[in-house]
Amino acid sequence: MMQESRGMSRTRVGVGTCLAVIFAALPASLDPCLGLADSPQVKPNMIVILADDLGYADVGFQGCRDIPTPNLDRLAAEGVRCTNGYVSHPFCSPTRAGLMTARYQQRFGHENNPRYDPKDNVAGLPTSQHTVAEVLAAAGYVTGAVGKWHLGAAPQFHPNRRGFQEYFGLIGGGHDYFRCNPPGETNEYLIPLRRIPLQRNEPLQRNEVEECFEGYLTDVLSKEAVSFIERHQKERFFLYLAYNAPHTPLQATDERLSRVAHIEDPVRKTYAAMICALDDGVGKVWETLQNLGLAENTVVFFLSDNGGPTEVTHSSNSPLRGAKGSVYEGGIRVPFVVTWKGVLASGTTYDLPIISLDVPATAAALAESAFPDEPGIDGVNIMPHLLGEDSAPPHDTLFWRTGGGASWAVRRGEWKLLRRGQSPAELYRLDTDIGESRSLTAAHPEKVEELRALYESWNRDNIAPLFESPRPAKKKPSPRPAAPAK
Ligand code: CA
Repeated sequence: MMQESRGMSRTRVGVGTCLAVIFAALPASLDPCLGLADSPQVKPNMIVILADDLGYADVGFQGCRDIPTPNLDRLAAEGVRCTNGYVSHPFCSPTRAGLMTARYQQRFGHENNPRYDPKDNVAGLPTSQHTVAEVLAAAGYVTGAVGKWHLGAAPQFHPNRRGFQEYFGLIGGGHDYFRCNPPGETNEYLIPLRRIPLQRNEPLQRNEVEECFEGYLTDVLSKEAVSFIERHQKERFFLYLAYNAPHTPLQATDERLSRVAHIEDPVRKTYAAMICALDDGVGKVWETLQNLGLAENTVVFFLSDNGGPTEVTHSSNSPLRGAKGSVYEGGIRVPFVVTWKGVLASGTTYDLPIISLDVPATAAALAESAFPDEPGIDGVNIMPHLLGEDSAPPHDTLFWRTGGGASWAVRRGEWKLLRRGQSPAELYRLDTDIGESRSLTAAHPEKVEELRALYESWNRDNIAPLFESPRPAKKKPSPRPAAPAK
């Protein structure tokens, strides 16, 4: 009861009362809200753990049976599993742009993946946008990012210049898991099947200095995350831990492969072993929080940045239709957990739709702060909803758009309307047809028009994409030898 009471006070103190006052670049010592409730127990630490291309059905807490994920399952069991948890885009970089800004990324033209190019001053998270790291740093948090950035490679897009005081990781969209190349070596990966250059295998960076790593990249990132928590355990911290696992290239350690030896398909087996490494890392983070006595003062968000690319990694989004890149549920509905030990009811589910944009909005609210451009943000503080204090849906309607409008979707209640390219619009009721198998456009033309009007109204506030994703290679590059398995 004590815990429950304390938890409620954590979320009530100051949330919504200090809002725009705070961000006006005041030093933390002068923060008016800190003066009211300046205690480590009031404002929690926050950790956002993002997986990359993790399938909807590929962790135990989502029903997976062939990939062991005991640590992720424990994290979910300690918190709330959001069964209608969405991301704002069906692929990597745009989702991250929304996750940083709490705004639909189409509003500011970040609708594609930036190619890695330090001289490209356009392809990146526009500097006009405020990030959650800026908001939390201004609220007195120590801010750190570990892992995949993928929000632009030019200097002005660097995480250290977007609110993160500390950074270690890969600036681009992917990386070899076993080695980094010496500076100057520029071989590129190709996304299997599509022959799109994935990423130059750049050295990693510690802050703005290149640094290679030894070992297996997922383990290296986990170790960095643990180090950040240990070093800042006596401060208020915000950690963005963005694994590139289990994104391609498909590479795993022998030890993890042995854990999934029962999987016969070699592609899925390697993908599964990569998830085992991710799971180990989440376990280390959680164990560190427990050992340091921080678990009850730290909110942990876990989600994937998009659905599994089923053809490439043999991931599974079952029972959802579609995959990474699609506006079907399989592209945008993801494993999504929020854990705040002793505050949120453990082992529960939250079934109303939420979206990744809510993560930064919630983080800002928990820090008793706000984005400076509120009410222009689209995310909402979901903590009162998860706590049961607010039974209303966090969102009236959710929207998705790819390719500058080539494909789009809109969900209101259980109804979802989508359009893929030039194909006819499709209408589904998700409560009775989660697999989007029977379009109801003919039976409910009024619902089609209602949802289409909502989409068009929302879309009027969007702009055209500022940059394009890398295109398929015109000629076949010479293959590079695969790194040896370790
Ligand atoms: Ca991704």
